Amino acid sequence: MPFTANRQFKKAPRMLVAAEGMHYTTADGRQILDGTAGLWCCNAGHKRPKIVQAIQEQAAELDYAPAFQMGHPKVFELANRLVDLAPEPFEHAFFTNSGSESVETALKIAIAYHRARGEGQRTRLIGRERGYHGVNFGGISVGGIVNNRKVFGSLLTGVDHLPHTHDLKRNAFTRGQPEHGAELADELERICALHGPETIAAVIVEPMAGSTGVLLPPKDYLQRLRAITKKHGILLIFDEVITGFGRLGAPFAAGYFDVMPDMITCAKGLTNGVIPMGAVLTTAQIHDAFMTGPEHLIELFHGYTYSGNPIACAAGLGTLDTYAEEGLLTRGAELAGYWEDALHSLRGLPHVIDIRNMGLIGAVELEPIAGEPTKRAFSAFLKAYEKGILIRTTGDIIALSPPLIIEKDHIDQLIGTLGDVLKTLD
Ligand code: PMP
Repeated sequence: MPFTANRQFKKAPRMLVAAEGMHYTTADGRQILDGTAGLWCCNAGHKRPKIVQAIQEQAAELDYAPAFQMGHPKVFELANRLVDLAPEPFEHAFFTNSGSESVETALKIAIAYHRARGEGQRTRLIGRERGYHGVNFGGISVGGIVNNRKVFGSLLTGVDHLPHTHDLKRNAFTRGQPEHGAELADELERICALHGPETIAAVIVEPMAGSTGVLLPPKDYLQRLRAITKKHGILLIFDEVITGFGRLGAPFAAGYFDVMPDMITCAKGLTNGVIPMGAVLTTAQIHDAFMTGPEHLIELFHGYTYSGNPIACAAGLGTLDTYAEEGLLTRGAELAGYWEDALHSLRGLPHVIDIRNMGLIGAVELEPIAGEPTKRAFSAFLKAYEKGILIRTTGDIIALSPPLIIEKDHIDQLIGTLGDVLKTLD
């Protein structure tokens, strides 16, 4: 099983058999409040009628169309809807099947873009420590999580990393964006000086690093990164696989922070997690570089059998309809204050060394047990599950990202139960 302690899981499997709204049902008939929107993806909650219906109807009409040299109406409809939802500079979409594939696609587009414009020497890619960009070779190369990298060989060459921005000394218990750390973006100048900026194709960062523990960008950090990349002709890619589709209280983090990258990767909430699908959004400048270069039969030699799969597109359209009808993509902004107060009420409980929040995402960081990192938080996960709430842990950090349909009484239950769990931890 993926990212699972398989030997432990076998002894006591946690099996889910149904889901509706804010809840999962377990094999033994218990209701579990979903505090993580599945894996940060079921932003509209579970078993949403429009999405179910869209999938059923599409399966009965056009189940599959070849993805290469052929099209079908729904893939263009979804692309148009996506770029309408995204901030203004984004005009084109390329479909993939996951967040990992969106990342690989964006990195390849970046290198090919420069080559199409006569700058073929720009091949270097810059990621960031503690970054998560999926599990394929490009993604783990630019990513910065040691366990995802260390046993998989030599990875991509020509990659460098910015420092991460997590700073408990200066920023612990900040509500929203941390005050300190914008200057860490200036490290990009050092990397440029080291390699020559004209060799760098792209910088990829999560505007808010999710999987590594909900690390919010310090104030002005993303703006500085944008200014430096622009100055040197380097593309900036925001990996919005988690922040896309309302997590922070706006459709995309780019709009929320008002910093426009050159590409956005997304997945997860694009189909509410129901059917695997991802996308890369690009500006006209990037798209046009491929269209106006020397004429080839095929402009971008890249794609997947299931790119723009009709049933995935139907799920995506049903999802975007649901978000729009229920105002879910801005609900994170409406509930942010209540969510923030609830989360920060956990301050002072045993072992809690930091609490972070924004929109409808949050993290509670625990002091690791000496010599046994991850044990304390994982024990919280198991206890929380017994008490009827689903949380997620990464290292000794508990992450929360509930479906955006959450109500205040669910927030009370989620945070109240988590508080009870924290009081019982060794
Ligand atoms: N990028 C980011 C920022 C992610 O959070 C994730 C998944 N958590 C991925 C990429 C990879 O997505 P997937 O698991 O769909 O390949």
